[in-house]
Amino acid sequence: MQFAQAQFGLPRLDAQMLLLHACELPIHDRAWLLAHSDEVLNDKVQTQFLDFLQRRARLEPLAYITGVKEFFGLQLHIDNRVLDPRPETETLVEWALTCVADTSQPHIADLGTGSGAIALAIKHSLPSAKVTAVDASADAIDVATANAQRLGLDLAVHVGNWCAPLAGQSFDLIVSNPPYIADGDTHLARLTHEPVSALVAGSDGLDDLRQIVAQAIEHLKPGAWLLLEHGFDQAQAVQALLGNQGFVSVQSRPDLAGILRCTGGQWPRVK
Ligand code: GLN
Repeated sequence: MQFAQAQFGLPRLDAQMLLLHACELPIHDRAWLLAHSDEVLNDKVQTQFLDFLQRRARLEPLAYITGVKEFFGLQLHIDNRVLDPRPETETLVEWALTCVADTSQPHIADLGTGSGAIALAIKHSLPSAKVTAVDASADAIDVATANAQRLGLDLAVHVGNWCAPLAGQSFDLIVSNPPYIADGDTHLARLTHEPVSALVAGSDGLDDLRQIVAQAIEHLKPGAWLLLEHGFDQAQAVQALLGNQGFVSVQSRPDLAGILRCTGGQWPRVK
């Protein structure tokens, strides 16, 4: 393990999970490693482990290598057709659940669902909700559908751009974690494995957020909420987009790192 850390500069936890995966064991079973610490790795496991370490050192997300990611207590299957779900997105799910806590059988849409992480977390926590997941990528919808089936959670899915497939439908809540990184942002150099279409949104990173805010108003019931994840420095801009569009109670929420990561507003009850 020291060798994995020293040679590849990987955090110990990553190296441990990759070794467990190379051994075809559950990646969270670190107790197994302790209990078998003097066991010798066979050639096949060694080769596999080395390959995983090299991939991780080249910044491939751990979830793509292991094929799984835990999100809001759910085990999702993840691959390079979709964004690797981030823990900060759980902030959006927590907020979403409070928005519809008093609505019986709320109708909820997740725009740009990717792996289905947000939609499935909401459906799991709120089985009475009718959850619709949209993504422009048919590949992403395949991943989300497979996750829904494996987890036994019912999702309505549509391939299409933001609200385009939702004609005639209105919701109690719309959530989205859209692409929000600006073209040419230096962070992109570390994000070369994930779909660009899930990350980048024009020269200021707000292109998709603007489209969503403009389109969502046709699909929100009076009093419904629109909640959006965004970049670390975009809270004010997203508040302005919502305010200018006529949303009320516009506010932002911090993620666990204390960064204002989500902004939302309520569509007025009476216009
Ligand atoms: N939060 C991701 C990152 O900065 C980006 C995800 C997104 O664009 N929605 O790495």
